Amino acid sequence: MTFATLGLIDPLLRSLEKLGYQTPTPVQAQAIPAVLAGRDLMAAAQTGTGKTAGFALPLLQLLAMEGPKVSANSVRALILVPTRELAEQVHEAVRQYAENLPLRTYAVYGGVSINPQMMKLRSGVDLLVATPGRLLDLFRQNALKFNQLQTLVLDEADRMLDLGFSEELANIYKALPKKRQTLLFSATFSDDIRLLAGQMLNDPLSIEVSPRNVAANTVKQWVVTVDKKRKPELFVHLMRKGKWKQVLVFAKTRNGVDALVEKLQGLGINADGIHGDKPQATRQSALDRFKLSEVQILVATDVAARGLDIEDLPLVVNFDLPIVAEDYIHRIGRTGRAGSTGEAISLVCADEVNLLSAIEMLTRQTLKRQNEPDFEPEHRVPDTDASGQVIKKPKKPKKPKASGGGGKRNLGKWVDSGEASPPEPSVKPVRKVPVFNTGPRKRKP
Ligand code: AMP
Repeated sequence: MTFATLGLIDPLLRSLEKLGYQTPTPVQAQAIPAVLAGRDLMAAAQTGTGKTAGFALPLLQLLAMEGPKVSANSVRALILVPTRELAEQVHEAVRQYAENLPLRTYAVYGGVSINPQMMKLRSGVDLLVATPGRLLDLFRQNALKFNQLQTLVLDEADRMLDLGFSEELANIYKALPKKRQTLLFSATFSDDIRLLAGQMLNDPLSIEVSPRNVAANTVKQWVVTVDKKRKPELFVHLMRKGKWKQVLVFAKTRNGVDALVEKLQGLGINADGIHGDKPQATRQSALDRFKLSEVQILVATDVAARGLDIEDLPLVVNFDLPIVAEDYIHRIGRTGRAGSTGEAISLVCADEVNLLSAIEMLTRQTLKRQNEPDFEPEHRVPDTDASGQVIKKPKKPKKPKASGGGGKRNLGKWVDSGEASPPEPSVKPVRKVPVFNTGPRKRKP
């Protein structure tokens, strides 16, 4: 699957290419077509899944293709987020995606002067990212009108409620046009979130990216560290040593699949590959032959292997770690099914330490490492653990380390660093009270 097959227009595809996004993540694959089709969405997805692009890309496309020009002080799409850090982060992503589109985007949040924000809103904004408190202030001061609003996104809805924004949300909700598209993203689905969803969404499509911590405990998992260029050699060595009979191997890219298959075939090993560039019929035939044990080693990309029904595999090998940590769970879930035991081996090089860390954090376990004699890497893979830490052994006397307040996430693309962003100054303390009061909710006696 590609972004083009999801129906995205050329200006967006060009931005994605520039950003180096090659394949849609699971949440993007589900959300993009649904949003383009005008559906409401209720998505269980955390930071790190690629959810921002999942809603922002189709939203920008709809704004570029449909609807009137934005009027003064108006906004056509609104993304509500719990904190100003997230507002900046989401807006930055939006800005990059929208680079080739003639759209005005902006972010407003508390803790900074309201006047420049009011000025900026005067000429209207196609897409506005906002924290709830500041948005309401702007609305009450007539700096904002919602009559042109066509889409509302609630991002990290659970955090918005945890930070006590339920009242603000209720007030915003009252001010919005009834006819609109609404997308709700939340990491958890408590009763409060369901109540909120019930009130705000219309026949939503539910999306859930794979549960976070379900690595089957019947699967024995371990890591062999190795230098990147020696992976093929290590693979063949382990295969011969372990007398592997049937193995599903995951590689990161199509080229990676082809290169490994070629190498194995060159050694007389019965291997085949599947990836998105191959015609469906070829893929199917490789898969069928693998299932019939006519092919011993099947090498696949995540996208090609998704949804494949291959049961009772004894062994899965991660030749490369997946970019999306959730995919690790999908991959190893192909072995150890229905109570049978299975094995999942990951060949990990120093470049992949952040991906390893993300997987360990997601599965809440530190993967056992096993060195293979003669393959110990020259480029050491730093230690990792389930807390998401990459433990770097200092080589030189340590300088005091600046603590990571804000800024870049340090665990690679797919991980939430776990740094809690501080709330806006106006945020009230945590309130666990259910949400909206837009109609009679109490049961009648
Ligand atoms: P998010 O979950 O939206 O916070 O995204 C997490 C990170 O993944 C961000 O740094 C995005 O730029 C990046 N990202 C999102 N989608 C993709 C993709 N399809 N390919 C590569 N990187 C992506």
